[in-house]
Amino acid sequence: MFILKGIDQLQNAIAKAKKVRPRVEFDRFGRYRVSGSKGYYTVICRKDERGYKTVACSCKGAERGLVCYHSAAALSLHIGLARQQQTA
Ligand SMILES: [Zn+2]
Repeated sequence: MFILKGIDQLQNAIAKAKKVRPRVEFDRFGRYRVSGSKGYYTVICRKDERGYKTVACSCKGAERGLVCYHSAAALSLHIGLARQQQTA
């Protein structure tokens, strides 16, 4: 799990996501399934009680606090949906 502070920390993961092009499936707002090397991972994007945006992925890398490309892929969908909600 990591706290999203800015787009900068996602650059490498976004670059990797563009290369790997994982499948992102919408489960519900803030919860996505992203295809990885060993099947699907679940990515949860939410705001914690202090107002921090947190992203959690069920893969091994994310367990160690790394920003994985699954998170980046899910976030790009999540941010788009969040924008739509705000303008709706
Ligand atoms: Zn991951």
